[in-house]
Amino acid sequence: MRELCIRANYGYSGRYVERITLAKDAGFDSVFISMRRAGKRLATFDNICQAIDLAKENGVKLEFLHMPNLKEINSIWQVGDMGDIYTDYLIGMISHSRLLGVKKFCLHTCYKREVDAPSELALRRFQRIANACERFGCVLGIENTESRLHDEFVLDNLDSKAVGFCYDSGHEMALYHAKCGSLLDKYGDKLVLVHLHDNMGEHDDHLLPFDGVLDWDKITTKLAKCPDVNVVLEVKKQGDPDSLDETKQYLATALDRAKKLRSMIEAKK
Ligand SMILES: [Zn+2]
Repeated sequence: MRELCIRANYGYSGRYVERITLAKDAGFDSVFISMRRAGKRLATFDNICQAIDLAKENGVKLEFLHMPNLKEINSIWQVGDMGDIYTDYLIGMISHSRLLGVKKFCLHTCYKREVDAPSELALRRFQRIANACERFGCVLGIENTESRLHDEFVLDNLDSKAVGFCYDSGHEMALYHAKCGSLLDKYGDKLVLVHLHDNMGEHDDHLLPFDGVLDWDKITTKLAKCPDVNVVLEVKKQGDPDSLDETKQYLATALDRAKKLRSMIEAKK
């Protein structure tokens, strides 16, 4: 059966271990974590090792690691040494995490749209990351984010069994302004991960599924035709970030929504 996962940073201000333990206690099978720190800073290898170890020590499973979605990724599209160095940072982070047992990663192709045009140079760098994933025996999902041009360039041109599509339902609506599930028509056969969340159509709100305007009937129909993946909620609680009671209630509701999506997908297989 598909497992149910929620992002570790779901909008409660408690410390990392408390947040992931609450998610586990609420009934989620796993969490995912991001390789960035507060203040939009890149995580160091030490930060990530510590986060992986703490999850293990507390019996919380990691579904995947989210590579840092910060402006540094844009260097991959630029001429100059920084693009090679940042590519090496990502490869190092993947290999380090892989040694600690992590098998899946997701990556944005760029940060916002402040990025140079697609080029062979950038593709060679993404191909180096893909080759490293193959060598380390792990899976990388390329996520749809802000620039459809860059996302499709990478997805269409990367040649690797280790790389697939990470479908983000909220980004499809708010950032691509595309019909719900239409990306699954194009890249569904390459699906390796999902980020499921809702919004009102304008902003990337990361609401719980069924709290916004997304057509979940259509999305689950298309997901049912794709390779099986776990149900991952990339959601963020609104309201008081310090309230423990509110957080527990939120996690209970989030789990119900994840189960509902799983049932809808399974019913359409
Ligand atoms: Zn996402």
